[in-house]
Amino acid sequence: MENIFNYPKKDLEDYLVAKGYKKFLASQIFDWLYNKQEYDFNNYTNIKKETIDFLKATFSTAFITITKVEEDTDVKKFLFTLKDGQKIESVLMYHNYGLSVCVSSQVGCNMGCKFCESGRLKKVRDLETYEMLEQAIAISNYVKQKIDSVVIMGIGEPFDNFTNVMKFINLLNDPKVLAIGARHITVSTCGLVPKIKAFADMELQVNLALSLHSPTDEKRKQIMNVAKAYSLKEVFEALKYYQNKTKRRVTIEYIMLDKINDTKEDALALSKLLNGYNVYVNLIPYNETKNIAFKASSKKQIALFYDTLKKNGLDVTVRHKFGNKISAACGQLRSKEI
Ligand code: SF4
Repeated sequence: MENIFNYPKKDLEDYLVAKGYKKFLASQIFDWLYNKQEYDFNNYTNIKKETIDFLKATFSTAFITITKVEEDTDVKKFLFTLKDGQKIESVLMYHNYGLSVCVSSQVGCNMGCKFCESGRLKKVRDLETYEMLEQAIAISNYVKQKIDSVVIMGIGEPFDNFTNVMKFINLLNDPKVLAIGARHITVSTCGLVPKIKAFADMELQVNLALSLHSPTDEKRKQIMNVAKAYSLKEVFEALKYYQNKTKRRVTIEYIMLDKINDTKEDALALSKLLNGYNVYVNLIPYNETKNIAFKASSKKQIALFYDTLKKNGLDVTVRHKFGNKISAACGQLRSKEI
């Protein structure tokens, strides 16, 4: 039985019309699910009994369950258990501009970035749309506050689960569902070139973040398996294609790894590579974990790197480090549990 939270409005309308129902039924269902938050079809008082029987026989409204919450002052980390017993995690961050949730898109990840705790455990399966949407809804319900922005940057490579992630974005953005503006949604990729182009063709106003982590193919291949499949030349051609289509600025994610990618030469090479692109660079202090040998760059080294990029005309920020007291690295809560 399929979960009804898998359906963007248009898909639900098409499905219901194909089954002989009126298109308007989808609006009634959306009102119950997302406005009244009523998940028992039996209580849909404006819908006929036979139609309710059809809904009960066709759709589930089951939720993923919160198994554990770790809390720090500016962050809460949630471990969820899925219907098949798999575990995923999401993070709620309190920014001065509002509440942001980082959601997972897959159970595990096959991209094999060497520094990543999430990727240490291989992909078991893609998440269905409802499993992504319910991370955001369950967290919003837990803190009894509206979520202001969503980043799809948790466990998994979102573009490796492209169709479900695009449906999820549609639901986030729908004014009748979570009403999160496209410019408050960010999808992150480690550089799957054909999918960057497919995303560009959709011409959405959603933000794109590219996990770059090194300015040369040689070094990138040492820390990211995806670099063996797509060269930087191909990645930046796709980026150009995306920017020509959307005119959107792209975030370049750059994780700061001690003596791996954090030297002044790296900063100069990065400045050269990004010259002429409409980007801003987000330097990410690394969260060390006991399972992975990489070390975090020192504050001094990050400052030097930052200054070099600035001097070369780039917009750059250093990401605020959330949750020192909890399992801060992405995937750490899940891998501890497993
Ligand atoms: S960094 Fe992202 S893409 Fe790379 S292994 Fe981790 S979850 Fe996958």
